[in-house]
Amino acid sequence: MYPNATCALHHDSPFQLLVATILSAQCTDKRVNEVTPGLFEKYPTPLDFAQARQEVLANDIRSTGFFNNKAKSVIGAARKIVGEFGGEVPKTMEEMLTIPGAARKTANVVLGTAYGIASGVVVDTHVQRISARLDLTKHTDPVKIEQDLMKIIPQDRWILFSHQVILHGRALCVARNPKCAECALNSLCYAKDKTV
Ligand code: SF4
Repeated sequence: MYPNATCALHHDSPFQLLVATILSAQCTDKRVNEVTPGLFEKYPTPLDFAQARQEVLANDIRSTGFFNNKAKSVIGAARKIVGEFGGEVPKTMEEMLTIPGAARKTANVVLGTAYGIASGVVVDTHVQRISARLDLTKHTDPVKIEQDLMKIIPQDRWILFSHQVILHGRALCVARNPKCAECALNSLCYAKDKTV
């Protein structure tokens, strides 16, 4: 159904993807994509973000919501990357998890999309909902859902799987009244809230 699925956040580098992913919390990718072109022009390198004043950056990203916390995370992440990783986003989950504002979901997005490294499965709200509907997990905690998905999905599909499920969650398997009549998984799915 979604053979060419990929990340919807525009970026030109792993660091830009990290920033965009931090900004995407509780915000649409569309809104983030409206903000990031001007943002990356104003702050072209991790060092520029590391040296930014939090209240100034917060104002620059105001329209993405939760701007004070996001500004703090972005500056913290930039300082860590400049100070400890030579200005490059690291390539392991272990190192990624030391970066402020980067939990497993963010780390999986950046490692998977920017570097093509499958360290886990991105579990966002769409993956959470659809994994339950398709009975791929009984858990509600994202960390446990991810562990279940890592057991049943071949590792070479982990990166694509998340992109595909996220697209499915936007296109058909929406939170309320999923469009099951149009869904190719209809005959396989026995979700309680199916609409056909
Ligand atoms: S049949 Fe409906 S609930 Fe099941 S995956 Fe498709 S859209 Fe989602």
